[in-house]
Amino acid sequence: MAKCSICKAEIKQLFLEKLKGTVIYKRGSSKQYPICFECQKKWQTKEELLQQIQ
Ligand SMILES: [Zn+2]
Repeated sequence: MAKCSICKAEIKQLFLEKLKGTVIYKRGSSKQYPICFECQKKWQTKEELLQQIQ
């Protein structure tokens, strides 16, 4: 099960393997960072989300 890259919460998977959340990529990298719905609400732009990931 995927975990949020920011808060480490487990991201619930809906049917058809769709994550309840999103996946973002760092510029110039193919590494995926799953982000949960709650963190998406907290930080609304991709730039802000990326800043939270260390
Ligand atoms: Zn989160």
